Amino acid sequence: MDDIGKIRLNNVFEQMLSPVIKDQLRAIGGRVYDVIAPAVDQARRETDVARQREAFVDAHALAAAIFESECSGYFHNIPGGLDLFKSLACKSGCSFCCELKVEITAFEAAAIWAALQGDEWARQRGALAATGPRTGPLDSEERRRARIPCALLVDGQCAVYEFRPYGCRGFFATDAADCERVLKTPPGVTLPPVRSPAVPRALASAFAGGANAALADKGLQHDYLELNSALATLVGRPAAFGEWLAGGRVFTRAAAE
Ligand code: SF4
Ligand code: SF4
Repeated sequence: MDDIGKIRLNNVFEQMLSPVIKDQLRAIGGRVYDVIAPAVDQARRETDVARQREAFVDAHALAAAIFESECSGYFHNIPGGLDLFKSLACKSGCSFCCELKVEITAFEAAAIWAALQGDEWARQRGALAATGPRTGPLDSEERRRARIPCALLVDGQCAVYEFRPYGCRGFFATDAADCERVLKTPPGVTLPPVRSPAVPRALASAFAGGANAALADKGLQHDYLELNSALATLVGRPAAFGEWLAGGRVFTRAAAE
């Protein structure tokens, strides 16, 4: 990528981080750009839809590997990082966070949908088609109150753990009770804090920014999208994938906060 200035972090990180740290994050986002932009070109060269989907699945797997490597590097290299890692409460079966709004890029929507082909994923596709129209219109607070689990949560486990979105990858907490309290706080009451390391969340923001910069340069819709709704769009009408790849606006933007 020749201009990392095109990569935008989310508003919180844009406002709170120093220019040096932001540039470091944008440089990481640039690595993601360099994975996704060629994948879009490759998919556009293919005439076979299965090969097009494959280009996205492969690019998502590579970007996810970069994310895991960056995240692991953070926990291993900062002073006290391993202690912080050991203090994380996140584990299989803990899923309060999967009832909250998750925003993804259209790249992630296309890649995750592309991986959900075949009869073995029919249950998840059906769940997405049913859940997406309910979650799409909700802002974060409405989603929190609605108590609607992500359609990809099956028996308390993420069915797409290996290819889950950046937002899910970057969210950790040191006490699951924090997450539970957030879900159970009544409307109108200030939400309690969740003790959560900021760097993985900033990495997720850099990855999404890199992905969106690549999509923007390729003339593709690059809005932030609500996870279940975006996937439901592709599940409900697979032709939308080709339309998006040709530059069409097929996804509904996530509800504003
Ligand atoms: S973020 Fe909270 S709810 Fe999600 S896995 Fe971690 S501790 Fe559990
Ligand atoms: S994709 Fe997986 S980790 Fe993310 S909200 Fe859905 S079930 Fe949870």
